[in-house]
Amino acid sequence: MSPIIGVLALQGDVREHLQLLAELGALARPVRRPEELDDLDGIVFPGGESTTIDKLSRAFEVREPLVARLRDGLPAYGSCAGMILLADRVVDGRPDQQTFGGIDMTVRRNAFGRQVHSFEGDIELTGIDGGPLRAVFIRAPWVEEVGEGVEVLGRVEQGEAAGRIVAVRQGALLATSFHPEVTGDDRVHRAFVEMVRERS
Ligand code: GLN
Repeated sequence: MSPIIGVLALQGDVREHLQLLAELGALARPVRRPEELDDLDGIVFPGGESTTIDKLSRAFEVREPLVARLRDGLPAYGSCAGMILLADRVVDGRPDQQTFGGIDMTVRRNAFGRQVHSFEGDIELTGIDGGPLRAVFIRAPWVEEVGEGVEVLGRVEQGEAAGRIVAVRQGALLATSFHPEVTGDDRVHRAFVEMVRERS
């Protein structure tokens, strides 16, 4: 059976995620409204602008039901802004910024410095075979601190930010600072679809 995986489609690079998920055999759907959450087996929070996605989620009244589904164990994957949205705590967020939460971690928004708009690096991820991944960071967050239940899957390997945590998992929640959806490497999404299959 193909799992039904939504992509929160309020803002950001929704299309890239939908395409990858469909290629991997999931029934991939954009999600904006509360009733569209009902039959989901998993959800992706795309890259984009976390403050905008947060605001729109409240305007579309999808925030509360989505938080409830996450608390209930709905598997989720967040990339970049999506990682921020899955974090329990944010540093350098906007004062009124809220997250959906679920991962016991503190993320720093735009952590790699304002002048560094984007960069790329190779990263080895726990649980992902086949050699390092090309990681593309675009005004990305990093993870400052994680709670006990959080598994660190990857860290920056080169340069000034070496050692910074950029991929984590807690239970059915997965998050990366970078954007695998823009490189054509489907291994992170494949791992997520596998997580969703295991749970549903
Ligand atoms: N800086 C963005 C934010 O705070 C994230 C950037 C991205 O998703 N590429 O939400």
